[in-house]
Amino acid sequence: MGLMRSLLLAGSESRWLRAQATRRAFVRRAVSRFMPGETLDDALGTATALRRDGIGLVLTRLGESVTDAVETDEVAAHYVDALERIRAGNIDGEISVKPTQLGLDFDRERCHAHLRALAGRAAALGSFVWIDMEQSRYVDATLELARSVRAEHANVGVCVQAYLFRTAQDVERLLPTGAGIRLVKGAYREPAEVAFPRKSDVDASYLALARRLLAGDARKAGGRAVFGTHDTRLLRAIVEHASALGRPARDCEFHLLYGIQRAEQQRLARAGHTVRVLVSYGSYWFPWYMRRLAERPANVWFVARSLVRS
Ligand SMILES: Cc1cc2nc3c(=O)[nH]c(=O)nc-3n(C[C@H](O)[C@H](O)[C@H](O)COP(=O)(O)OP(=O)(O)OC[C@H]3O[C@@H](n4cnc5c(N)ncnc54)[C@H](O)[C@@H]3O)c2cc1C
Repeated sequence: MGLMRSLLLAGSESRWLRAQATRRAFVRRAVSRFMPGETLDDALGTATALRRDGIGLVLTRLGESVTDAVETDEVAAHYVDALERIRAGNIDGEISVKPTQLGLDFDRERCHAHLRALAGRAAALGSFVWIDMEQSRYVDATLELARSVRAEHANVGVCVQAYLFRTAQDVERLLPTGAGIRLVKGAYREPAEVAFPRKSDVDASYLALARRLLAGDARKAGGRAVFGTHDTRLLRAIVEHASALGRPARDCEFHLLYGIQRAEQQRLARAGHTVRVLVSYGSYWFPWYMRRLAERPANVWFVARSLVRS
């Protein structure tokens, strides 16, 4: 892992830095490149332009490591509201939630109950719930939550991270459940005992897992396979592989982050693929933003430029 990436990921966990950064106008300006605003209205406001490009929406309210039961209830209520607003606005939208935002750290039963309720509400409103994957210490519990909620509701999927050694095995266990699987590279600081330290190995793991998800027997269980990446080399390889297998373009689904590789998002949608953009919003954006900087340390220059312009 590069030094800059390590420093940025370490910084993402610093409370002091969070307090400093969130007060600075120039940082907030730089963040706006990846986030349309802090409110649900700001996030929903992106739907019209995306729809014009044939692109759907996945909403995620930033927040993690919540340690207060009342706060988890508020988060769950917020997502119910988001699902209802999606439906009322006739928006092609889904939600993506972090288990630690719903209480995974201190009350697994509460987290489970919230996810079940959200999946039930989403099913009634014709939407879908994605479960984010956080640090490696949460993987077992998160997969167990996904399996258990999927046993009751079909409209649930979970994220898996290509940087973890264990993911190939996790995917084999998930496939028969019919849960949706969203494949990403992985955004956290993980030790070399559990994750590939080299980017080239992560990329190779991603492609191998993508091919596995596209295989005929993997598709039989019926769960959605979604590729969450901005890596144009991987995107092309996945499209080529799916087409060689005779999969219709529509069945090849890609999710990208708001503000990243917009031309690629539009190109994939024009080519007939299913494309959604994950739009983050909320006031708790600091650790999430630091992870975005770590993915592309050149982004630090955007922050510096915003400072110069202030
Ligand atoms: C829909 C979606 C959901 C996700 N959910 C999770 C999750 O639940 N858990 C988790 O651990 N991670 C999640 N991630 C983040 C993911 O793990 C990666 O950290 C992130 O996608 C960057 O990796 P990449 O595949 O784009 O490849 P990279 O090799 O990091 O990037 C490839 C290229 O994309 C562009 N790019 C990538 N990131 C940026 C950026 N921040 N700014 C500007 N350009 C950029 C650059 O041109 C770069 O060269 C999610 C990502 C997406 C798209």
